[in-house]
Amino acid sequence: MSRGKLYLLGDAAHIVPPMSAKGINLALNDAEVFARAAIQQIQQGDSRLLDSYSDTCLSRIWNYQAFAAWITEIMHNVGDTSYAGEFR
Ligand SMILES: Cc1cc2nc3c(=O)[nH]c(=O)nc-3n(C[C@H](O)[C@H](O)[C@H](O)COP(=O)(O)OP(=O)(O)OC[C@H]3O[C@@H](n4cnc5c(N)ncnc54)[C@H](O)[C@@H]3O)c2cc1C
Repeated sequence: MSRGKLYLLGDAAHIVPPMSAKGINLALNDAEVFARAAIQQIQQGDSRLLDSYSDTCLSRIWNYQAFAAWITEIMHNVGDTSYAGEFR
């Protein structure tokens, strides 16, 4: 979710189906993690939190992605896996 001095947050970095209702939660979590990291960099010259920003966020994001895929499939295919389609 970062390259050089570019950091992506929220939907710019990851999108989950609206049905899972997790996008705002993930975006806010990214913002909190990034804000803490930026403050540590600016106030203490310590880049460790910025360096780990992507890994910190992604561990949470992949769990939410898996949940979003699971609940979307349940809602859409109603048990008929032939509807799994290109999303999976
Ligand atoms: C139909 C639908 C239902 C949803 N329901 C839920 C829900 O129930 N719960 C939940 O948690 N999430 C839900 N989401 C997802 C959630 O809305 C998003 O994940 C969240 O808003 C992402 O926040 P963001 O700040 O990353 O992006 P955004 O909220 O999209 O903010 C990006 C902002 O940047 C602005 N912008 C774009 N380009 C430029 C530019 N060039 N210059 C300046 N500004 C620019 C845009 O106008 C926008 O205001 C839903 C999404 C949809 C589409």
